[in-house]
Amino acid sequence: MKLYFASGNEHKKAELSRLLGGYELVIPKEEGLHFDPVEDGTSFIENATIKAEALYSIVHQPVIADDSGLMVKALGGAPGIHTARYGEEEAGRPLSSKEKYMLLLKSMEGVEDRSAVFATALCLILSDDRRFIIQETCEGSIATAPSGSNGFGYDPVFVIKDNGMICADLPEGEKDRYSHRGKAARLMRLLLDKEEGR
Ligand code: IMP
Repeated sequence: MKLYFASGNEHKKAELSRLLGGYELVIPKEEGLHFDPVEDGTSFIENATIKAEALYSIVHQPVIADDSGLMVKALGGAPGIHTARYGEEEAGRPLSSKEKYMLLLKSMEGVEDRSAVFATALCLILSDDRRFIIQETCEGSIATAPSGSNGFGYDPVFVIKDNGMICADLPEGEKDRYSHRGKAARLMRLLLDKEEGR
């Protein structure tokens, strides 16, 4: 089955392709489609649904969307749904991933309780009336210094609670075992396999 992936994020595409092995993921720009929906939902689920619906209304074929982010306890759950744009309003320009996680480390200086949770909502639309949503999490904490070069986004500063490792220090398959996206995608794959009669 070909699945349109409602994203422009190549890293997310790589992770999800690996996790949904056997399903071909196609992102809009690969087919020259203009896709830039306004993500003005108030939750990961709402934003994943907005992205999936926007792309489905263009392609009218099965679509999957991912909305994810990091919730840091000491910051009252921020950056949450604003994780992708963390710090950009104050800077007045887009920030690189490194600038964003360094800013996060700075805002956590001296903070003792560094617990944090990654969340991913996946929304699958198979047809006009058939849609499925899965939200999963990965518990952990914010490191005091970055480490590693694997993964993407905030991986260099996120310590996975279940194995005590920084995400970016792990090989891809290991991150998938514990990650929010890994957990959500494995459940989504069960659903897709059932759909395909596998
Ligand atoms: P959005 O889902 O496109 O709004 O973006 C979510 C943002 O959260 C990404 O741009 C990343 O910075 C961050 N993020 C989501 N999942 C991960 C992950 O698995 N590792 C590191 N950062 C992530």
